[in-house]
Amino acid sequence: MTEFELIGRFFSRRAASAAVGNGDDCAVIAPSAGQAFAVTTDTLVEGRHFLPTIDPWKLGRRVVHVNLSDLAAMGAKPRYALLSLTLPRIDESWVTRFADGLWHALDEFDVELVGGNTTRGPLAIAMTAFGDVPPEGALLRSGANVGNEVWVSGALGDAGWALYCMIGDIKAEATADQIARYECPTARVALGLALRGIATSCIDISDGLLSEAQHLASASNVCIDIQLPAIPTGLATQLAAPELAARAQHCLLATGDAYELLFTAPETAHRDVDALLRSTGLTGACIGSVIEADTSPTVRVFDAQSRQINVATQGWDHFAHD
Ligand SMILES: [Mg+2]
Repeated sequence: MTEFELIGRFFSRRAASAAVGNGDDCAVIAPSAGQAFAVTTDTLVEGRHFLPTIDPWKLGRRVVHVNLSDLAAMGAKPRYALLSLTLPRIDESWVTRFADGLWHALDEFDVELVGGNTTRGPLAIAMTAFGDVPPEGALLRSGANVGNEVWVSGALGDAGWALYCMIGDIKAEATADQIARYECPTARVALGLALRGIATSCIDISDGLLSEAQHLASASNVCIDIQLPAIPTGLATQLAAPELAARAQHCLLATGDAYELLFTAPETAHRDVDALLRSTGLTGACIGSVIEADTSPTVRVFDAQSRQINVATQGWDHFAHD
């Protein structure tokens, strides 16, 4: 099968709303009337962002959700996507499952795949996604105000826990649910849209709660205080054996792949945000508050006795873990 046959068979559909979709040198697309495009791109590399054992259907689904998660964090409505696929060889049954998972996720959000390319090399998948957002209404990292509350949209810890168990770094067996939290994240698109006009800042948790909170703090020039007992925790983190409690806490605070939204909102919006989370079926919670930055913007974590926790590892730096 040639590259063009591969694209034609698995990755081409007739353009729906795009002026020009697949099959030309470029796609021609525009945001909806009165909207601007939020644009994001993400690359998934085998061995770094997913394990070679992942079911290709889940991988296809995952590449869509991790990209749409960034759109969700901006309050954007997903519209179009481009896909770049680097494959070591053309394995038809693998590509069939991968494409099925990809289309399943694209269709769930009504996203049109308008182009991309394929090439031979070590397995890597890059997607670029476009979403409608009001030109002045995107949720940014920089809008957190002193006095705001800090929220997270769901339980954290299980995705990181599952990954560490699968690579043997935590000596425990991850459950199917925990592995699903790692392999099959869900972009919080509906929540991101609903938070327009309510949230003052927002980011998705791809790298870890603390590092994302630090991004909000730095961009907004504020400090963020997080109450550890308030963070909704995944089952692995709740049930970890005592000798693994420190690892569980690390998963909760500093491992990525959760793809929940971390956002700030005025105290006066507390009931609205709570109702919103419940209406979207999410188990989110208010986990802290925004305070004035005295010297530099930082994130502090406090335990149930209001003692500050010394957090050594603040997130996943792609260049620090070779
Ligand atoms: Mg992000």
